[in-house]
Amino acid sequence: MIEGATGPWEAVIGLEVHAQVVSKAKLFSGAATDFGAEPNSQVSLVDAAFPGMLPVINRFCVELAVKTGLGLEAEIRLESVFDRKNYFYPDLPPGYQISQYQQPVVGRGKLTLDMSDGTVREIGITRVHLEQDAGKSLHDQHPSLSYVDLNRAGIALMEIVSEPDLRSAEEAGLYLRKLRSILRYLGTCDGNMEEGSLRCDCNVSMRRPGEPYGTRCEIKNLNSVRYVMQAIEYEGRRQIEILEKGGAIEQQTRLFDVARGITRSMRSKEEAHDYRYFPDPDLLPLVLDPGWVARLRAELPELPDAKKARFVSQYGLSPDDAGVLVAEKETALFFERVATGRDPKAAAHWIMGDLFGALNRFGIGIEASPVSAEQLGALIDLIADGTLSSRLAKDVFAEMVATRAHPASIVEAKGLRQVTDQGEIAAAIDAVLAANSDKFAEYRAGRDKLYGFFVGQIMRATAGKANPALVNRLLKEKLAQ
Ligand code: ADP
Ligand code: MG
Repeated sequence: MIEGATGPWEAVIGLEVHAQVVSKAKLFSGAATDFGAEPNSQVSLVDAAFPGMLPVINRFCVELAVKTGLGLEAEIRLESVFDRKNYFYPDLPPGYQISQYQQPVVGRGKLTLDMSDGTVREIGITRVHLEQDAGKSLHDQHPSLSYVDLNRAGIALMEIVSEPDLRSAEEAGLYLRKLRSILRYLGTCDGNMEEGSLRCDCNVSMRRPGEPYGTRCEIKNLNSVRYVMQAIEYEGRRQIEILEKGGAIEQQTRLFDVARGITRSMRSKEEAHDYRYFPDPDLLPLVLDPGWVARLRAELPELPDAKKARFVSQYGLSPDDAGVLVAEKETALFFERVATGRDPKAAAHWIMGDLFGALNRFGIGIEASPVSAEQLGALIDLIADGTLSSRLAKDVFAEMVATRAHPASIVEAKGLRQVTDQGEIAAAIDAVLAANSDKFAEYRAGRDKLYGFFVGQIMRATAGKANPALVNRLLKEKLAQ
């Protein structure tokens, strides 16, 4: 809810996400799809719309769209149709995009958001359809000419449309992150927003709580979660300002100006395209074998929600920790390798604390971690068997990150084994108390605060290697004498 000058407003948001299908070939041609290739080096005669060329559907792309639908618990439509969406633009040689319109391959589904207060919210998925990407106009290559790169032309996209169920920028951010996570688990889209594999159009309207939906504006082509959230925040405030002055929202397509953090009008409803959709006569309706769909369903991997629930019940993690660990498939895998046969909470603690800290510093993902799951497990074992205190383990971990060495060899090489010999610790305690007899007397006279001072001195005397629990126990015994 957003507080305006005249009372509260509620945002109503629906997202249209374009997700590039992970396929080496395009949706209707065999041309390659590698990112960053030389312009126009991955263009077949079909993509360039030479006369007489015919599209041939890529079965693998259909398979991934169906998997995506299954992952969103959606209806798989056994018969779907490809239409021509007609418009004229230099980066679209045929003058139309092949896209599913009234008969998409995937119908209604859903996705759950894990809210920050611990509750879950279900967001409706309206549909998922397959369509071709367009090419790209390059305006920065020549002072007076625009160039066209058709490498993207014909690449398979899944358009994933949500119901207008989102109510804030935060929810839109959660939705996008969750969707990206599911797509990556399924292996149907790499979710790489910097490379344009996942792009988002945001539909935003404002209403008084409980009132019917208002007129929406659509903000086109946002390529980061942060921009999506910023654009929604800005657009919401812009609409509230108009509405509070008694004005009406004009249905528009808007662009987000990244540099200025504002949205501006691109075209109004009157200027909207008339796409004159009709079924592409070069393509038969797409008919799926129910047995094939059933097989794909049976082969689905464990998805983030199910994995999170399992991490809570099997490993006793808090829902928050489990949520963090399952967000990326690779992190979940790493966690399970470390946790198996060990204290799962210790595994979660090390991964989310020291390991994430190190990965953030290097700006790398867990798949490139300098510390392997096996090595982190070995470090936790050294704590469990008393070789290392958790304090020493932190030093060993830092050394593991720096040198990629195994914890056991670091402990040996640096002589970091913790001191658990009671006689040795008792001797250190005696020495510290003898050397600080004045403070010892003050403590006896009631200055309890000095306890921490003694612990510090004893740790120092043992070069930080004394087992802290033993130090505490033996020191307390000594002081109580
Ligand atoms: P179009 O075909 O013009 O893109 P749709 O009805 O398919 O229109 O809706 C596109 C997106 O807009 C969907 O994600 C939907 O949830 C969202 N949407 C529809 N009505 C509203 C509204 N009043 N406010 C915000 N979003 C809306
Ligand atoms: Mg739209």
